[in-house]
Amino acid sequence: MKLGIVGAGMAGLSCAEAAIRAGHEVTLFDKGRGAGGRLSTRRTSTSSGDLRFDHGTMTFNARSDAFKMAVADWRDRGLVSEWTANMARFSSGAPRSFSDETHYVGAPAMNTLIKGLAIEKTVHFGWRVNRLQQSSAGWTLHFQEQPETFDCDALVLAIPNEQAVELLASVWPDFAQKAASCVSVPIWSVMLGYETALQLEFDLAEVTGSPIRKISRNQRKPGRDPSGECLVIQASPDWSVAHVEDEPEDVTKALEQACFDLLGAAPSAPLSRQAHRWRYALNATPYGKPFVLNEALHLGVCGDWLLGDRVEDAWSSGRALGEIL
Ligand SMILES: Cc1cc2nc3c(=O)[nH]c(=O)nc-3n(C[C@H](O)[C@H](O)[C@H](O)COP(=O)(O)OP(=O)(O)OC[C@H]3O[C@@H](n4cnc5c(N)ncnc54)[C@H](O)[C@@H]3O)c2cc1C
Repeated sequence: MKLGIVGAGMAGLSCAEAAIRAGHEVTLFDKGRGAGGRLSTRRTSTSSGDLRFDHGTMTFNARSDAFKMAVADWRDRGLVSEWTANMARFSSGAPRSFSDETHYVGAPAMNTLIKGLAIEKTVHFGWRVNRLQQSSAGWTLHFQEQPETFDCDALVLAIPNEQAVELLASVWPDFAQKAASCVSVPIWSVMLGYETALQLEFDLAEVTGSPIRKISRNQRKPGRDPSGECLVIQASPDWSVAHVEDEPEDVTKALEQACFDLLGAAPSAPLSRQAHRWRYALNATPYGKPFVLNEALHLGVCGDWLLGDRVEDAWSSGRALGEIL
């Protein structure tokens, strides 16, 4: 069977892996210019050289045995590493240590994992699907910028639910309506780059009672260039919702201020300041099934939002759908 998959993040690639194993001919399309999805890495050029920030997911965990096995395989293939980060929790400004699950990161960058999973698969990056059309044989995909179309026997959407709803509204309206009730929340991420490391006693911090949710020092992750400081500040969902339409410059200013109010340090000006809004970052109301498949339409849907809001959910959802195709 010729299968088309829209979205080459963790869910799409995990679905592709299982479908290829079952003997299907799989082609993936992703609107992103490069591999990553929400496991992306931003490279920033500065006067002191390039800095790298994992500005989406900072780390992920493995809970199920099946996902632990997948992560072990990625470790063997050199795509991920365990990060024994020095953790801190900030609540009302007072840091305290805490123990947590094992943290995994793509190495040497978060998007290395997605790049590695995309190898030996047919993936077209920079192709945004903007219309689905049913044909006698199956589906025809139309793209925003490319005049070509793509025909396939069956189709999988592995994209955030709001984006899936847009594409499905005209071809599977019943499901589009149900999927629309799974709402994603945005997260703002601010990236601050410094020439020298800051005097901080943690690598990864969880924060409550602040506009900030997490802080990560990217250069402290395994495989990264340890010189300089690559600070990633993630806003809380509540703050991000309230400021979702703010200008990136205003968001950067507010979160930089909140960060140093919390850390009690006022360093020199950073070499680089950037903000990125993840409009569909974390799903607040999962669908509750690993995937949805309409056999009559030859159309399936997977993604983290079917099960939760974690990398493991995306992988589990994609794999479950890929195995049944
Ligand atoms: C800021 C942030 C923090 C997070 N923190 C954590 C964490 O601590 N732990 C954890 O486990 N998870 C975390 N997550 C969630 C985790 O990143 C996701 O659960 C997971 O990456 C989702 O994978 P996915 O394949 O379902 O979706 P995505 O990674 O979003 O992949 C979907 C892909 O579809 C593409 N796409 C969308 N629409 C189209 C279209 N029309 N045509 C073509 N391509 C399209 C996109 O470009 C994207 O690459 C975080 C996410 C964010 C944003």
